[in-house]
Amino acid sequence: MEKIKMTTPLVEMDGDEMTRILWKMIKDELLIPYIDLKTEYYDLGLEKRNETNDQITVDSANATKKYGVAVKCATITPNAARVEEYNLKEMWKSPNGTIRAMLDGTVFRAPIIVKGIEPCVKNWEKPITLARHAYGDVYKNTEIKVPGPGKAELVFTGEDGTVIRETIMDFKSSGIIQGIHNIDKSIESFARACFNYALDTKQDLWFATKDTISKKYDHNFKDIFQEIFDKEYKEKFEAAGITYFYTLIDDAVARVMKAKGGFIWACKNYDGDVMSDMVSSAFGSLAMMTSVLVSPDGIYEYEAAHGTVQRHYYKHLKGEETSTNSVATIFAWTGALRKRGELDNIPELVNFANMLEKATIQTIESGKMTKDLALITSLKDVTVLNSENFIKEIRNTLDEMIK
Ligand code: NAP
Ligand code: MG
Repeated sequence: MEKIKMTTPLVEMDGDEMTRILWKMIKDELLIPYIDLKTEYYDLGLEKRNETNDQITVDSANATKKYGVAVKCATITPNAARVEEYNLKEMWKSPNGTIRAMLDGTVFRAPIIVKGIEPCVKNWEKPITLARHAYGDVYKNTEIKVPGPGKAELVFTGEDGTVIRETIMDFKSSGIIQGIHNIDKSIESFARACFNYALDTKQDLWFATKDTISKKYDHNFKDIFQEIFDKEYKEKFEAAGITYFYTLIDDAVARVMKAKGGFIWACKNYDGDVMSDMVSSAFGSLAMMTSVLVSPDGIYEYEAAHGTVQRHYYKHLKGEETSTNSVATIFAWTGALRKRGELDNIPELVNFANMLEKATIQTIESGKMTKDLALITSLKDVTVLNSENFIKEIRNTLDEMIK
């Protein structure tokens, strides 16, 4: 078969540890043999971020704005241990946080459903898609470790000189404080992204915050969603036969456990971070979850929802065999290639992306899978493959399909 040609480059963001190893295997085995792969490459591995004072992350986000579609490998978010391990100049911020802040938008995460991997919540019959607001709150926080007694205040100084001042706490002893923010415009685009995605996929939309406790901050989210819904989407939802409803986050959590699935659950940034890990592991594995950041101006960044799988990487470094699941990273690539194909009008590219996804699912359903899935599958006669052989097996399935 002749290699598929691309016209616009994909923004390729390489990453760290085990996922960086998988990244190369996926490209070598599943992409380069079939596609004249055109990418603009950014190495977001921690060493390169440290070397460039994290400029590389900013550059990659700007390239994404320019070209419109990116695919990202998992990356290390440094903590104290990482600063030591990599001898970092600074505890660089989360690359995902930086990119999301620059692109704004919403992260949609949905489980990849395969036969033989049943969700452990037995009434979940259909996928639950998580829509995570990707801007602000605790991800753009300012924190102070309060050394001792004193007064902590929240102060806003308007450009016109207006001052709004609230006491946070009269500290009698040491403690901590944190300042967070969000922007109405970002919340509005979050709301529209969710309503549009619900209409596109004909699924009900749930949204939940803690507005009974956070009477201004969270309440603002609730009001903005409701206003936009009433003004712009109410009739469209009725025509599509779908619903929007708002509830408290703790009520939503309880309802989700009892629901059948088949809806979108919109969450604020932090709730979405936590709940998507819960939903994905309940659907099978962190490695069976797609994740895409959609910006209000129609920019797409595809990634896996899991991290760099550090524990497996250390085994790999010791020369031991690993069985790391590459499905989410493969689907990040297929998502990005499909979108590129749609935008550039290259049906062969769209077709290839669909086929590679099908080949991946078919390989698992035929009983060939990585250890994480083998542990939870209901299939009999399972072959557990190592990281590399799983990818090679997908290639075999793909070649059979293409023949
Ligand atoms: P992780 O990489 O998601 O892995 C946690 C555990 O989940 C693994 O040890 C493994 O369990 C299992 N797992 C996750 N992905 C798997 C896969 N593809 N195949 C098989 N098993 C998988 O989280 P972490 O180890 O806590 O974090 C490592 C690094 O990733 C951290 O530095 C963190 O900052 C970063 N991180 C990055 C992103 C991102 O870039 N999007 C997201 C989250 C975390 P077993 O060990 O039991 O096999
Ligand atoms: Mg997370």
